[in-house]
Amino acid sequence: MSELRPSPITPTVDFDGQGVQHGFLRLPYSRDDSAWGSVMIPITVIRNGSGPTALLTGANHGDEYEGPLALFDLARTLDARDVSGTVIFVPAMNYPAFRAGTRTSPIDKGNMNRTFPGRPDGTVTQKIADYFQRELLPRADIVLDFHSGGKTLDFVPFCAAHVLPDKAQEEKAFAAVEAFSAPYSVKMLEIDTVGMYDSAAEEMGKVFVTTELGGGGTSRAETVRIARRGVVNVLRHAGIVKGTPDRQPTEWLDMPDGDCFSFAEDDGMIETMVDLGGEVRKGEVIARIHDVTRTGTAPKEIRAKMDGMLAARHFPGLVKAGDCAAVLAVRV
Ligand code: ZN
Repeated sequence: MSELRPSPITPTVDFDGQGVQHGFLRLPYSRDDSAWGSVMIPITVIRNGSGPTALLTGANHGDEYEGPLALFDLARTLDARDVSGTVIFVPAMNYPAFRAGTRTSPIDKGNMNRTFPGRPDGTVTQKIADYFQRELLPRADIVLDFHSGGKTLDFVPFCAAHVLPDKAQEEKAFAAVEAFSAPYSVKMLEIDTVGMYDSAAEEMGKVFVTTELGGGGTSRAETVRIARRGVVNVLRHAGIVKGTPDRQPTEWLDMPDGDCFSFAEDDGMIETMVDLGGEVRKGEVIARIHDVTRTGTAPKEIRAKMDGMLAARHFPGLVKAGDCAAVLAVRV
């Protein structure tokens, strides 16, 4: 492979500077309304002395709000004197998507979490991913990437990490998840790992934790409180912020295999037959899809493929064939 060209992104902050710096990752983006314009991605770097580095991100998907709410707030309020090491905040990672209130970028339709390792000579989303891949992730010891369900999914609030081949790395990630203290902690299975930020970080040996804190394209007071407490807890757990984590009870869930996921095979109007957090038995109807084109037809049933708890559900009232209708998890 030929040598990659340098990233076109210029930071207005000095990653090695001490104290609090608020600035931007400036990405040139020439377009109709701004010939020599840029995408200005907000970034904060808080550094005090030497020590580990945490990289904190929200709005990897642009319609998920707990992460940005927690991170814009903490970036503004965290006192450098309480830090030992460095905290890098990028509260809205896919910034064009965040500004549009959409999952993917309005510029190139890029889904940040399917774009890694990115390209320095690619689309806007690919250029942002490349900057994380080659400039930000290598600086980090611990990475916290906030997600929620966005406009089309709704989750019970959980923090999660993945089962990894390196068991020492996995143990550190699960310890950070436990410290986050969401109501649920999940050993998470992914549907489609290619291009994920998670995998990029994990392949570099970083301690990587993520969340799913709610959804529906909005936030709730409770889920934002969980996010705010969780991020400080993780930073305290990592020894980067002064103090001990404010640990709350958490229940561990496992996602053992693909039977966790149920997908709609019909278009129509979805009726969820169990609420989030509710128990289901294998074979039980978890959702029904009603035909909206005519009267007199029976709804199609989606049945649980395993015993478990409803951890996520399709959020909008209308569903299309192929949509994720429900996700089950198992209490451990
Ligand atoms: Zn997401």
